[in-house]
Parts: sequence; C-alpha cells; structure tokens
Amino acid sequence: MQLTILGSSASQPAPGDACSSYLVQDGDTAVLLDCGSGTLGRLQEHVDPSAIDAIFVSHMHPDHYIDLIALRYGRRYGAAGAREIPVHLPPGGSDKLQRVSEAISSTQPFFPGALQLTDYEPGQEYAIDGLCVRPHEVVHGIRSFGMRVSGSSGTIAYSSDTVMCDELIELARGADLLLAENTLGGGAPSHHDPVTHISAEQAGVVATQAGVPRLVLTHFWYTADRDLACREAASTFRGHVVAARPGLKISI
Ligand SMILES: [Zn+2]
Ligand SMILES: [Zn+2]
Repeated sequence: MQLTILGSSASQPAPGDACSSYLVQDGDTAVLLDCGSGTLGRLQEHVDPSAIDAIFVSHMHPDHYIDLIALRYGRRYGAAGAREIPVHLPPGGSDKLQRVSEAISSTQPFFPGALQLTDYEPGQEYAIDGLCVRPHEVVHGIRSFGMRVSGSSGTIAYSSDTVMCDELIELARGADLLLAENTLGGGAPSHHDPVTHISAEQAGVVATQAGVPRLVLTHFWYTADRDLACREAASTFRGHVVAARPGLKISI
C-alpha cells in the first residue's frame, strides 16, 4: 500500500506545489483523495488518469476539487468512449459541481461520459477493489469529511480540513499513518477568523492521542516553513513526522 503526495498546499499552491491531492495505491487499485488546483499535472507524473478507480472529495472548497474540471475536459476530449471515473462527493457536492459547470460551460450535461458524480453517505464504507474508504465527518467552515483508507497492509487517516475536535481524534484512532492538515503551522499568518484549521502542534496532539506512529503534515500555507512545522509537531508528538511535498511516496 503506497501513499503518493500530489499536492500539499492550502488555498494557493506554494511554488512547485499543487493544492490538496493524494494518490493511494494497493496492488492494481488506485484511489485519489481530493483533486485541488494543479493536481492533474502532478498525477500524470505517476499514473495515467485512466488508472484511477475512484476519487473521493473531502469537502467542497475549491482547493480540494477544482481540478475535477480539468479532468473532465481531459476525459471528454482525450479519452472519449473510455469508462467514466466515479467521483464520490460530500452530501450536496454533485449539485454544487453541476452548478459550477453551468457557470463555466454551455456544454450540458457537462460530466456524463467523463466523470460519474455521486454523493457519499457519511460513515459508510466504500469498497474500491482492494481498498476500503470511509468518510468520517470533522468540523470545518462547511461540512468536511476526513477519510480512513484501509488496504492490504494498514490504514491511512486523512484529516481533510478541520478544527481541533473529538471527531478528528476518532478519525485517526489506531491508524498506521495520519495525513493531517496544518494550515496554521510553520509560521503561517494567523488571519483565519474564525479559525477553521489546526496547527502543526495540534496535528501532533491528534497523532499522540490517537496512538498513530507516523504523522505526515500537509495543507501548508504557501509561505509556511515546512521544517519549522515539523519541529512544531515534534513538540507534541514523539513518533515519526515528515512534511508532505509533491512526489513524496510513503509505503504503509
Ligand atoms: Zn483546504
Ligand atoms: Zn477547506
């Protein structure tokens, strides 16, 4: 089971980075978690988009889904007649994406033939060949869902965007690796009001309280010092901590 970081930035990509997107592979199965700005270029450095069995979107902020538009164009005009890629969205997500498509294109319906949009049920397990994905609600400015992804060799917990909350610790509990946002880490400006994110120290607290041995920090503000964020997380977490960066591959 392998995790590949495609994008590790919040909101605005840092130089050379993309916004949130994570490729999880187990044998021949490939699942994409989020599809933020700049994902598609990064994705093709690792796999052909046709190899993606399913995409799960954590929440409907553009830095987590906007490259679904690019993927739709690629499928529509570059892979005509190929199967539709299933895209699993938060409750209401399919309607929202449809409205986005109506705002940007007169070609309707926009997604059929390229992407198959469905809204997932929070808490339900979705079997994607060799992987099992379970959306788990956390607390953010809008409804937001972390993901537990289990495969042949372990479980990854992905935080999505979230505040510090019991739901986040429950999401991470007993996982082999926590992929946690830290929008407020590494010297990021503290202008988020109200606060809808966590810091690197808080990511460390979550990993500690949930009993997770490995922590990967992600969703960095574009000016963040990632080495500093790792040191901040290490002040509250004694396990292994690393900063996500595009192209980083981690075996579980
Ligand atoms: Zn975000
Ligand atoms: Zn968000």
